[in-house]
Amino acid sequence: MISQPILPASTDPKDFVIATIGSHSALQILKGARDEGLRNLVICKKGTEDVYKRYGVADEVIVIDDWSEWDSKVEEELIKRNAIVIPHGSFIAYMGHDKVGTMQSMYYGTKEILHWESDRKMERQWLEASNLKLPKVLEKPEDIDRSVIIKFHGAGGGFGYFIANTPEQFYEVKNRKYPDQNDFVIQEYVVGVPIYAHYFYSPITQELEIMSFDKRYESNADSIGRIKAADQLAANIHTSYTIVGNIPIVVRESLLPEFFTMGENVVEQSKKLCGKGLFGPFCLECIVTRKLEILVFEISARIVAGTNPFVEGSPYTALKYDVPMSTGRRISRDIKEAIESGRLEEVLG
Ligand code: AMP
Ligand code: AMP
Repeated sequence: MISQPILPASTDPKDFVIATIGSHSALQILKGARDEGLRNLVICKKGTEDVYKRYGVADEVIVIDDWSEWDSKVEEELIKRNAIVIPHGSFIAYMGHDKVGTMQSMYYGTKEILHWESDRKMERQWLEASNLKLPKVLEKPEDIDRSVIIKFHGAGGGFGYFIANTPEQFYEVKNRKYPDQNDFVIQEYVVGVPIYAHYFYSPITQELEIMSFDKRYESNADSIGRIKAADQLAANIHTSYTIVGNIPIVVRESLLPEFFTMGENVVEQSKKLCGKGLFGPFCLECIVTRKLEILVFEISARIVAGTNPFVEGSPYTALKYDVPMSTGRRISRDIKEAIESGRLEEVLG
């Protein structure tokens, strides 16, 4: 079920507050709001507020003991302040999809699209219909005839993925390490470099922008190569993809047209799937092969933490804007323009 918030009639951005929860990309979102002249607030679970105070990016820090206080306390405060909530990766992880759907406060983005993004089958349907190239999916472990990557449902930040080359290898790891988990997908392991493309689509300007690209710094996928092959074998290191940080990337210029087309197709297709379609920040998670084929293995329908290196803007936003434009700031600009033109409803889910 999706609830509709009651919208204030004001066209003055000063009557609104940009709100997010303290984690993931909150620093960037808060700074971005401030740069656009909007007030902001951050909600932190006790013990995590320090960093938001140290950097001084928040006008208000609300500290709660537990996320369960959201219903009883937090939402009421948010509604009182005309707060517009900006979701990010941790927000969805802490709240859960159902709670996001029934939230009463104003929410930037399409709630309905979360449904498509969180179900691997529906996600694949959406991406395939957008004419994107995807890694093959194998139906069952017995079909494993090549290198595959096994992903458990809801694996946060790549935690718990593993590689197998045969059905026997699959069962050996699965039975030993994940005996009780049976919700997984078996994807062809694509040899190439991972590139995360950060997009922004504004329903106000109706333009798709490429904001930046990153790659992830993953432990211990990014540490195995630091020792020689014989030592790798001897140490019996398990390849894991736990995310530790993000590294900025600039892509080969001749790849940009394809990246733009991919983003545009995804937005176009999303409009056929749900009311307002996908808008705001989103990310296509890709592997680029040596033949320069771009395969997409996942979509994130919100701001990703890979945009964090670009608090001061990216080489791409520098081409387009005359101020440092982070994705966080771009969100606030979209909201500001929507409020000023009386179109706020168009950017709320
Ligand atoms: P944290 O607050 O750092 O524990 O992260 C909460 C959620 O956001 C987890 O699901 C993480 O996997 C995800 N997350 C945090 N930082 C990043 C990042 N840099 N890239 C991708 N996901 C992230
Ligand atoms: P994710 O948590 O889905 O973003 O994936 C974590 C990491 O797994 C990525 O950064 C990639 O390095 C790797 N990965 C995911 N899917 C594939 C695939 N199909 N082929 C190769 N590597 C992959």
